[in-house]
Amino acid sequence: MKELETILRDRILAQGPIPVADFMAECLLNPRFGYYTTRDPLGAAGDFTTAPEISQMFGELLGLSLAQAWLDQGAPAPFTLAELGPGRGTLMADILRATRTVPGFHDAANIWLVEASEPLRSAQESTLAGHRVEWTDRIATLPDHPLFLVANEFFDALPIHQFIRHGDGWRERRIGFEDGQFTFVLAPPAPEPMLSHRLSDTRDGDLVEVAPAAAALSKSIGHGIEAHGGAALVIDYGDWHSLGDTLQALHRHKPSNPLENMGDSDLTAHVDFEVLARASPSAHTRLTPQGVFLERLGITQRAKALAEHLDAKPLQSHIAAHRRLTHPSEMGTLFKVLGLYPKSAKPPPGLEP
Ligand code: SAH
Repeated sequence: MKELETILRDRILAQGPIPVADFMAECLLNPRFGYYTTRDPLGAAGDFTTAPEISQMFGELLGLSLAQAWLDQGAPAPFTLAELGPGRGTLMADILRATRTVPGFHDAANIWLVEASEPLRSAQESTLAGHRVEWTDRIATLPDHPLFLVANEFFDALPIHQFIRHGDGWRERRIGFEDGQFTFVLAPPAPEPMLSHRLSDTRDGDLVEVAPAAAALSKSIGHGIEAHGGAALVIDYGDWHSLGDTLQALHRHKPSNPLENMGDSDLTAHVDFEVLARASPSAHTRLTPQGVFLERLGITQRAKALAEHLDAKPLQSHIAAHRRLTHPSEMGTLFKVLGLYPKSAKPPPGLEP
C-alpha cells in the first residue's frame, strides 16, 4: 500500500468513514504525498491541460477584460492583481504581456499568486521572471486594496461534501475502509441546515454537492471587491444550481476511479456557480459560456492576427486551439465564466447582460 493510502486507511480505522471533502483535501494537498504538492500535473506529460496552456489568446483576452474593468473604475493605484491556483504561471504571463501597453496598469499592480504547491510555485517563478511577484496560501492575507483577480480551473479543486436525500434529511456519502479496500458508505440520516434550500428541488435518492471552502472564498473575494473596488473572473467547468455526483478523477488524461491512484490522480468536482454568486456580497454577472465570453472579447480577430505569422503545422494547431477554446462541443459551453464586481460599477467586459 502506498504511504498516502496507509495514512487514509489509518485515519478511517481510527475515526470512521471520512467526508469526500477530507478525502479530496488529503489526496490533493497532503504536504508530503498530495497530488499538487508533489508535481506539475499540467501538459501532455501530466494528467490534464488547461485553457492557458492551449493558447496564449485565453490569457490575453482575460487580461484586457480586467484592464478595461480597472480603467472603468478610474484606474485605482495601487491595486492587487491576483490569481488563484496559477498552475505554471502561463495565464498571468499572458495577462501581463497583453496589458503592457495599458498606461499605468503595470506600475499600479502588485501581483499576488495564491498557490499551495511548491513545485508549481517554482514553475511560476521562472515563467514570471522579471516581474515582482508575491505568493500566499490564503486570500485573507491580501492587502486591503482594489482587487482584480482571475481563477481558472481552481474552484473545481476545492473539497466538496456529497449528500443523498433521505426523507427530509440527508445521508452524507463518505469514504470507508472495509474488507481490505476503500469504499463509499452512507452516514446515518441527519438534518442538514445548509441544505434546507435544496428540499424543494430534490427527491429521495438525489445527490447534491456542497463546497463550503468555495463559498467561503467567494464571500471573502466579494467582500474585498465591494469594499475596495475591483473585479473577479472565475472560469471553470460546472453550472448553476448543480445536481448529481460530479466527483471525478483524471489520471494521465483518462478518467479513473477516485478511490484508486490516490495522490497520483487529479480529483475535481463541477463548480456550482450559484453558490459562489450567492456567497459574495458584491454584484455578480450572468453565468456566461466561455466560448461566448471569448467571442465578445474578440478572440476571432485576435486569432486571425496571429494566424498571419503562421503556416503549416503551427497554423493547424493554432486553428485547433481557437476551436478548442470556443466551440460548443469542446470547451466553449462546458466551461463558464462568472464575474464579481462592485454594485456601483459596470460588469467586466465580455460579461455584460
Ligand atoms: N489555473 C491554472 C492551473 C489549474 S490547476 C491553469 O489554468 O493552467 C489548479 C491549481 O490550483 C494548481 O496551481 C494547484 O496547485 C492550485 N491549488 C489547488 N488547490 C489549492 C488550494 N487549496 N490552495 C491554493 N492553491 C491550490
